[in-house]
Amino acid sequence: MTSPQRAPGGFPVVGIIGGGQLARMCQPPAVNLSITLSVLAESADAAAAQVIPSAPVGSHLDLDAVLSFARECDVVTFDHEHVPQEILHALVDAGVQVHPKPEALIYAQDKLAMRRRLTELGVPCPAWARITDRAGLAAFGDEHGWPVVLKTPRGGYDGKGVRIVASADDAQDWLARGEELLVEEAVSFARELAVLVARSPSGQAAVWPIVHTVQTDGICTEVLAPAPELDAGLQAGVTHAALRIAGELDVTGVFAVELFEITDDVGGSSYVVNELAMRPHNSGHWTMDGSVTSQFEQHLRAVLDLPLGDVRPRDRWTVMGNVLGGDYPQLYSAYRHLLARDPGLKVHLYGKQVRPGRKIGHVNVCGTDLADLRMRARHAADFFEGTVTE
Ligand code: ADP
Repeated sequence: MTSPQRAPGGFPVVGIIGGGQLARMCQPPAVNLSITLSVLAESADAAAAQVIPSAPVGSHLDLDAVLSFARECDVVTFDHEHVPQEILHALVDAGVQVHPKPEALIYAQDKLAMRRRLTELGVPCPAWARITDRAGLAAFGDEHGWPVVLKTPRGGYDGKGVRIVASADDAQDWLARGEELLVEEAVSFARELAVLVARSPSGQAAVWPIVHTVQTDGICTEVLAPAPELDAGLQAGVTHAALRIAGELDVTGVFAVELFEITDDVGGSSYVVNELAMRPHNSGHWTMDGSVTSQFEQHLRAVLDLPLGDVRPRDRWTVMGNVLGGDYPQLYSAYRHLLARDPGLKVHLYGKQVRPGRKIGHVNVCGTDLADLRMRARHAADFFEGTVTE
């Protein structure tokens, strides 16, 4: 494997396992900081491999490939959470600096482990149980009420591996596999929130403002930063909980806590944690244009144990709109109209083939009129998708 080329002056190489859009978006701040990135990419045309010169192709499941990749890097981090624990531990045993460490990453890989740990810490969670059979599911549903939410503990994303189950008979196919499952009460939430934290190995931490993540059919389509009209007590409680989770789990790098906000009849607000993501996260894409320090720059600073950057917003509001693939593969031809129509629009595309429903990019708009920003972000995302044509 050829070694990644370092900038003269003692600058480090950060290795990222996985060549998706998160690794790709680390490249602009890495260039500015003169840090060399190297990615272990799934394919030569992966999103990150298009923009990062050192991008050997290899699988995150192949121990030899991961080890020889990591030996060329000063620090190793991740584009996704799917590197198996055995491989993560082998990296640590080989003396590689890995952030986040396997002991932390397990809580983003395994939803049952996450529920157990957060419950131990006293962090509010939906009622939950580990089940392996129909009787376990039936008992949980009878106690907490139907429908319930059934989840595969590992490997889910964008709502895959999550389903609403109205009765024990509804889940025969999953139960037939004989594997353990996580069952949760179906939370009747007012909205979904997320809080993004960065934490360095020496323990410095920074928290961006809490955001509202708008979901459509299980996929995040829009993020409002900060979350409008958020109760001050809830804000303080969530921020405190996120920092505490980061410290207790010894998370390093950027990580996100996804939450449900619950409102009661008398206007009170509370929350439960949905899940944890230990990497830069879709709920933090707004920071690329809306915060003094983007989550991608912050992730690099954190994994290198450099001082963290200022997380304050640059503007009153930032709206992020995810661009999903539609029937319109010629994305560049959309630029002439979109960029002329809205000079304030910030476009971030990932170099991915357009496939219906696939996240292929996002847009950010910042300003003072939230309703206007939402319309502009929606319009741009729809135009890329081909659902509006003017
Ligand atoms: P993924 O790992 O695929 O992102 P999540 O656990 O975040 O899966 O669930 C996906 C979506 O399903 C959430 O964004 C939320 O809308 C819904 N959901 C998940 N858990 C619950 C729950 N306990 N109650 C109600 N809705 C839920």
